[in-house]
Amino acid sequence: MTVQQGAGSGNGALEVWIDQDLCTGDGICVQYAPEVFELDIDGLAYVKGSDGELLQVRAAAPVPLPVLADVVASASECPGECIHVRRISDSVEVHGPDAA
Ligand code: SF4
Repeated sequence: MTVQQGAGSGNGALEVWIDQDLCTGDGICVQYAPEVFELDIDGLAYVKGSDGELLQVRAAAPVPLPVLADVVASASECPGECIHVRRISDSVEVHGPDAA
């Protein structure tokens, strides 16, 4: 059986968002997953949409499966504790400061 996985597909698909109010701007997330995170001119980290454009404050972007481990590591290492990874299907946080 082929299981389709990836950005925005399947029940287990995840998305990530940043609480910019708590971001320290150290750039650790960008080092881990530059495909997903980027520092903007204001010195804070933002997530990127599929077109590479930075999304607005607290907006969520789908997590591409190939970089899932890097995004999870970012959430774990983030000194601001402000990277939130949640399931798209029910918005339950699975990695980050509010994960159970
Ligand atoms: S690791 Fe956390 S605190 Fe550091 S730049 Fe990324 S979101 Fe901000």
